[in-house]
Amino acid sequence: MSRSMEVQARSNMRVCWRRINAANNSLAALHAACKLQGYDLEVTEGPQRDVTCYSLNSVNEPSYRKEIERADCITIVGGPHASACWREVAAYADYVVVGEGERVLPALLSSIEAGSEELPRGVATSRGFVPAEFCTRLDAYPPFTRMKGFIEISRGCPHLCAFCQTPRLFGPSMRHRSIERIAEYAKRYRDVRFVSPNALAYGSDGRSARLEKVEVLLKALKGNIYFGTFPSEVRPEFVTDKALELISAHCMNEKLHFGAQSGSDRVLGAMQRGHSTREVIDAVECCHEHGFTPVVDFIVGLPMETEQDQLDTLRLIRWVVRFGKVHIHLFHPIPGTPLAGHIPIRLHAELPRTFGRLALQGRLTGSWLAPSVKVF
Ligand code: SF4
Repeated sequence: MSRSMEVQARSNMRVCWRRINAANNSLAALHAACKLQGYDLEVTEGPQRDVTCYSLNSVNEPSYRKEIERADCITIVGGPHASACWREVAAYADYVVVGEGERVLPALLSSIEAGSEELPRGVATSRGFVPAEFCTRLDAYPPFTRMKGFIEISRGCPHLCAFCQTPRLFGPSMRHRSIERIAEYAKRYRDVRFVSPNALAYGSDGRSARLEKVEVLLKALKGNIYFGTFPSEVRPEFVTDKALELISAHCMNEKLHFGAQSGSDRVLGAMQRGHSTREVIDAVECCHEHGFTPVVDFIVGLPMETEQDQLDTLRLIRWVVRFGKVHIHLFHPIPGTPLAGHIPIRLHAELPRTFGRLALQGRLTGSWLAPSVKVF
């Protein structure tokens, strides 16, 4: 059967994608993957027949649970929350896509359409789950088609930060999209932005930079390139003179975004962050010397923090804002991580007081009262 005939044949089954802003990049990638198999995802504001797909994280999952439970159609749920808590989600959704969706979602749609009892690996239902035994090669799928998104250049992470789901969801090995494919899709944008767990680790194993690969990539791109800033942040130990020279020479961004997460070396060690506050200080100074504004992420309310750890974090934040900006996250336990099930500990009164003052001065953003209360 030709591809056009295949699309025609499959057009009888309407497949919808529930619009959820936090999942727009997943929509772009999965719209492209489904299109390759003849399914054109239609974006809707609620569940609609025949099938509606959702991608949920642990913050927004409670808002959609009832809607999915009551939906008058077949429901498929994926995303970080569903992948970590498939049993819980399979109790209210028809199917759960666990892990990467590019291969599994179109295969599941084919199976539903064919009325087959046999489900692809990587799909969970209330009857059970057989895990997928493969991981996605990024070049096998376009990063987007008609539904545009940021270009995902790398996936997977060898670090094991206790608060983060990325290595648990995508595995510990970094995979990279080829420079040719990235350049091909970058041509469709005037301003080009990327998705990566650490943009400066492009082409590497994620532990030691291979800046010669980053250089070839940046030289291959046209347009206004934003690299190492939202949404492709970096790790502090990757911020070096050579890295910033490359970004200065080829990119438009004047900011560099990286995570410090804590000002306490004890807490950094306890959550297996893999760097100390020394690397954070070096990275901030390096940005300053090269004319970049560092934008540094911190998490507060971590379960292993003592009052002294919080005051150490506050001291580092006060120092960072002399050179750049700080973005605060109140600790949120993510299912599937070592810190799942913990709750944020109470903040020392000096932290919210200082954060409020720095926010009014335009030097700090984020959320420290509740994940849903954000200061921009
Ligand atoms: S926070 Fe970043 S470096 Fe740490 S595990 Fe997650 S993606 Fe990797």
